[in-house]
Amino acid sequence: MKKFCVNCGVEESESTPIIKGLCPRCYIEIKGLVTRPRSVEIGYCRICGGVRVHGKWIYVQSLEELKDVIEDFFIELLKPSEEFTLEDIDVTFTPYEDSPAAINILGKLEEVKISHTVMVMVSWRASLCPLCKKIVGGSHSAVIQLRYVNADREIEDFVNSIAKEFEKWIKEVKPVKNGYDIQLLDASLTKRIVEAAKRKWRAVKVVESHGDVKRTSSGQRVSRLYVSIRILNFKAGDYIIISGIPYTVESFDGTWLVLRDGSGNISKVHFADLSRNLSKYRIGKR
Ligand SMILES: [Zn+2]
Ligand SMILES: [Zn+2]
Repeated sequence: MKKFCVNCGVEESESTPIIKGLCPRCYIEIKGLVTRPRSVEIGYCRICGGVRVHGKWIYVQSLEELKDVIEDFFIELLKPSEEFTLEDIDVTFTPYEDSPAAINILGKLEEVKISHTVMVMVSWRASLCPLCKKIVGGSHSAVIQLRYVNADREIEDFVNSIAKEFEKWIKEVKPVKNGYDIQLLDASLTKRIVEAAKRKWRAVKVVESHGDVKRTSSGQRVSRLYVSIRILNFKAGDYIIISGIPYTVESFDGTWLVLRDGSGNISKVHFADLSRNLSKYRIGKR
C-alpha cells in the first residue's frame, strides 16, 4: 500500500517522500525545518561597524565579511529538525538597521533537497567596541547647541533626521531649555549639520566657539568646538523684546520680520539685522 500525506493527501512518490506521515511541503509547513527565535538582537560598534555576536566582538572590513559573520551567527542559532540536514544558509539583511532578515535554508529533508526561506527580525543595538572606546576616550569633541524661537514639527523632524543620519557619530542628543545639545564624536560633522539647517531655514544664526581646553596625555592641547545654531522660526503672534521695547510679530516670511509695537506702529526688520544683535532680544510667548 502506498503511503500518503495525512495533511494534504498526496501519495508518496520518488520526488515526494512521506516523512513522519507528511509530504515535504506539509512537513515544512507543520513541523518546520528549523526552530528559530522570532527576533534576535545584534550589538554593533557605531564607529567601526564591528559586531558583537555570542558575547564576542568581531571586526569586519566589508559588507561581505559582515554577511559571513551574520550567517555564522544564524547557523549556530538555528536548530534543524530531526529529519532535516542543514547544509548551508544565505542571509539577506539590511546592515545596522532594524529589519527582518530573510534566511534561505538549504539542506536535505531525508533524501529530498530543500530550499526554504524563513524570516527573523533583527534589531541592531549600537554601542562602542572596546577599541573605539579607547580611541574616543568616551568623550565628545563638539557640541551643537540647537536653539529656536518656536518648538514645532519642523524642528522635531530636523532633530530626528540629524539623529538618524549621524547616529554613529552622536554621543548624545540632550533636550535643554529652548533646544537641544547634540554631542558629536567628530567635530567635522558640525559643518554638515549647519548646512542642513541652512537648507531648511533661511533665517539661521551660527556662532562657533571653543571651550574646555585640555591637555592630552601626549601634551597636545585639545578643545571642544561649540557651534550654536539659532533657528529664527518666528510665527505671527510671537512676543519679542528688542532693545527693551516689546513687539508682537505680525508676520515672518523667512526673511522679513514685520513687527507691531505697543502703539500699533508697524516696522519691518531683515532677519540678518536681527541676528547680529540677537543677544539683545528676548523672545517669549505672551
Ligand atoms: Zn502534504
Ligand atoms: Zn569599534
